[in-house]
Amino acid sequence: MDRGALRGLALGEPGDIGDACRAAVEVLMRRGSDAALVPAVYLARGGRLRCEAQAGPWRAQDGVPPSAGALGRAYRTGDEVLALDPAPPTDAIPQAAGAAATGAAAIRAEVCVPVRCGGDLAGVLHIASSSPIDEDYLHRARETAKALGERIAVLGGPPAELPARRLLRHVARLSALEDPAEIGRVVLAAALDVTEMDSAVLVRRDSLGHLEPTRATGPLAELLGDAPAEALEAIAHWVGNGASCHAAGDHPDGWPAELGTVQAGGAASIAAVGLFAHGAMHGLLILAGRRAVPLPTEDAELLELLAAHAASSLRTAEALRALRLQAASDPLTGLGHHATFHKALSASHRRPNTAVLLCDIDGFKALNDTYGHQHGDDVLRGVAAALTGALRRGDRLFRVGGDEFAALLVVAGPDEALEAGGRLRAAVLEAGIGVTVSIGVAVPVGDEPDASVLSRADGALYRVKAEGRDGVALAGDESQVLRGPTA
Ligand code: GH3
Ligand code: MG
Repeated sequence: MDRGALRGLALGEPGDIGDACRAAVEVLMRRGSDAALVPAVYLARGGRLRCEAQAGPWRAQDGVPPSAGALGRAYRTGDEVLALDPAPPTDAIPQAAGAAATGAAAIRAEVCVPVRCGGDLAGVLHIASSSPIDEDYLHRARETAKALGERIAVLGGPPAELPARRLLRHVARLSALEDPAEIGRVVLAAALDVTEMDSAVLVRRDSLGHLEPTRATGPLAELLGDAPAEALEAIAHWVGNGASCHAAGDHPDGWPAELGTVQAGGAASIAAVGLFAHGAMHGLLILAGRRAVPLPTEDAELLELLAAHAASSLRTAEALRALRLQAASDPLTGLGHHATFHKALSASHRRPNTAVLLCDIDGFKALNDTYGHQHGDDVLRGVAAALTGALRRGDRLFRVGGDEFAALLVVAGPDEALEAGGRLRAAVLEAGIGVTVSIGVAVPVGDEPDASVLSRADGALYRVKAEGRDGVALAGDESQVLRGPTA
C-alpha cells in the first residue's frame, strides 16, 4: 500500500477537492499487477454522481443517476456494494463502469465504497477490475474512501454547485418536456434557483395579444398572478428590446408608476426578461422578492439564457400539440376524422349503451355542382355546427367521409337512440342551411363487433335514402323511417 499517498490525503497537502480525488485514484492504481483496474471517485452533484477522477484503461461513466446500478445503490443506501470474485456474476457486475459498452476486458470484480464527509454521504469510490479483488485491496479502498472523506471535510465539504451549473441542469430537463404546464413549473423553479428572488410568474401573450399570467410560485405568487395589465405592459415595454430589467429598494422613483400596486403589495425587488423565440416576444418571466436583493450581471445573463430556452421549449411544445390535434382532426370542420372515429368506437366497448349514428347530407353532390365547392364547404361546416349543437354531454361527433358524419351517443336503449337521431335531424333543419340529412342508428347487441354495428347503422341509413331521404331509421326496426317536421 502506498502509505505516502494515503498520508497526503489524510494530512492535507495543498490542493483542492479535485486534487484529493485524483490522489485517491492514484493510491488505488498502484497495485503491481497486469490486471485491468479502473478506480474512480464519484461525488454527488445536482442529484447525480459525477466522476471527479479516474484512472485505468476504460472510460468511466459520468452523471450516473442514484437509481442506476451498483454505484447508485451504494450512494442511495450508504452501504458498500461488493462483488470481489463473483461466480456466478452478481447484480453489481453488469452495471460496472460501462466497460462492456467500451469493449473493455470483462469485469470480474467491482467495489463501491461510500465516501462520507462529516456524517453525510459525499459520493462513492468505485473500483472495477478484470481480476478478483482480495481483502488487502478492499481494506486499502476503505481506508482511501475514509481519508478522502476527511480531506473533503477539511477543504470545506463537498463543493457547492455554481448557479450556472444548476441552470444547465434545469435547462437539460426542459428539453425533455412536452407539456407546457410542466415546462412552466421547471422554468419558475430554475429562475428561483439561480437568483436570490423568492417568487416568480410566467406570463404569456395570448392569441389576442394580451399578456396573461399563466403560472406563479413563491410567497408573492398571488400578487404577481394578479398584477394589473398596465404593470405587465410596462414590463414588456422595458424588456421588449431583448434587455433584462431589475429594480430594488423602496425609493418611489426607482419603480415605474405602473408597478405601484406590486411594490405596495410587498415586493421589494423585481426583475424581468422577455420570452423571445423566432424573433418575437411570446411572454415574460418576472421575478420578485420580499427583500431588496441585487441582480448581478452574471445572474441577469443566466436569466436571459433561461428565458430563451423557456420560450423555445414552450413554442416547440405548443407546435407539437397543434400538430397532434391537426393530425387527429378534419381541417374543414375541426371534428375528429375517420381514424379517430374508429379508435373512439373501439374504445367505447368499455361503455355499454353507446349507439352508433351515421348521418349523410341529402343531394350534396348536386348542391356542389350548382352552387360551387366553396358553398358546399360552407354547408359542411354549417351541418357540423348544427349537429354539434344538438349533442348531449358525453356524445361525440366525427366527419367520417365527404358529406358523412358519425356520432357516438350515450343512450339508455334503442328508443333513446332513435330520439337522438330525430333531434340531430331537426337541428340541421332548424339551422336553415338549406339541406336535409338522412340518419341511420344502431345500438350494439351484447358484445357485437364494431364492423357489425357499423354495417347495421349503414343499412339503416341506406333504408332512409331508399325511402325518400330526410329521415331517421333504427337498425333492426324495419317498421318505419321516422320523419318529424319538415323544413
Ligand atoms: P345522397 O343523397 O345519396 O347522399 O346524394 P349525394 O349527392 O349527397 O351523394 P354523395 O353523398 O355520394 O355525395 C357526396 C359528395 O360530397 C361528393 C363529393 O363531391 C362531395 N364532397 C366530398 N368531400 C367534399 C368537401 O370536402 N367539400 C365539398 N364541397 N364537397 C365534398
Ligand atoms: Mg350525401
